[in-house]
Formats: sequence, C-alpha cells, structure tokens
Amino acid sequence: MFIAHLPAGYLLSRRATTRRVRVALLVGSVLPDLDLLWFYLVDHGAVHHHRYVPHIPLLWGAVLVVGLALRRAFSVGDVLTGLGVGGLFHVVLDTAVGHIMWLWPWSDEMWAIWTVTRRFEPWWLNFLLHESFGLEIALCLAALMVWKKSKQNKRLAATVP
Ligand SMILES: [Zn+2]
Repeated sequence: MFIAHLPAGYLLSRRATTRRVRVALLVGSVLPDLDLLWFYLVDHGAVHHHRYVPHIPLLWGAVLVVGLALRRAFSVGDVLTGLGVGGLFHVVLDTAVGHIMWLWPWSDEMWAIWTVTRRFEPWWLNFLLHESFGLEIALCLAALMVWKKSKQNKRLAATVP
C-alpha cells in the first residue's frame, strides 16, 4: 500500500475512545514503513522490506497484547494498544499487494491478495495502474469525506448557542 495507510488509520482512529489512543493508532498505522529507511539506506534494496521485523504481524500482536495487559494499571498501556492496533492494521492493508509473512516464525511464506506483475517502468507504476490501487483511492476518499464531515459538525456545534 502506497498512499492509504494514514487515511485508513485516520478512519480506524475515529473509533478510539481517547486522544492518546487515537494518536498512537495513527502513528502505528504508518510506523512499520519506517523500515524503508533501512531498506534504502542500509540494505540498498537487497531484501524486501516486508521481511523486516516492523512488517511482522506477530510484533504488532505482541505490542497489542502487552498494551492490553498494562492498560488498566499504566497509561503507557493505552499507547501500546493504539500502536499495536495501528501496526496490525498496517500489515493487514499491506497484505493487499505487499506480501506479508503472517505465519512467521513458523513459516516465512509471504501472503498477498493480489500479485502485481512487472509490466511498466518505473516499478511503482505497476502498483498505481493495478486494480488494487482502487482500494487505496477509496480509502483516501472515505477519509477525506469523514474528515470534512467532522470539520463541518465541529463548525456547526460551535455556532449553536
Ligand atoms: Zn508497509
């Protein structure tokens, strides 16, 4: 997924009960792609970045479980819960075309709903012209509509005495 992680995270974060969880969820929805820095700057593209730890669902599942366990006693539990949900959501969305190792460490087989074949140059054009990109556009438009409606409702609420 290229452009819809943050908009999709925004849509999901609307369900969060506190601002802290909402922000953590938004951060978690994009955090796994920080491994692109390692991919480009250190590995120079030698290993698909979805094989790195930040794209392993088990990591975000563990963060979520720890967050839920700590949630009642420590405020950091809320943050970890939001990060875990956001990170899991990220890898779920990446599964559309991104190939994710859902069963790691038991298997390093990579799973995806669609496989994008290489037909165009540069490489990213193959993803933009693939049918799965419609999902990204739909998520972006939905987030934009929800955001605009939210702003409109806040403006209305501010004008009502
Ligand atoms: Zn990703």
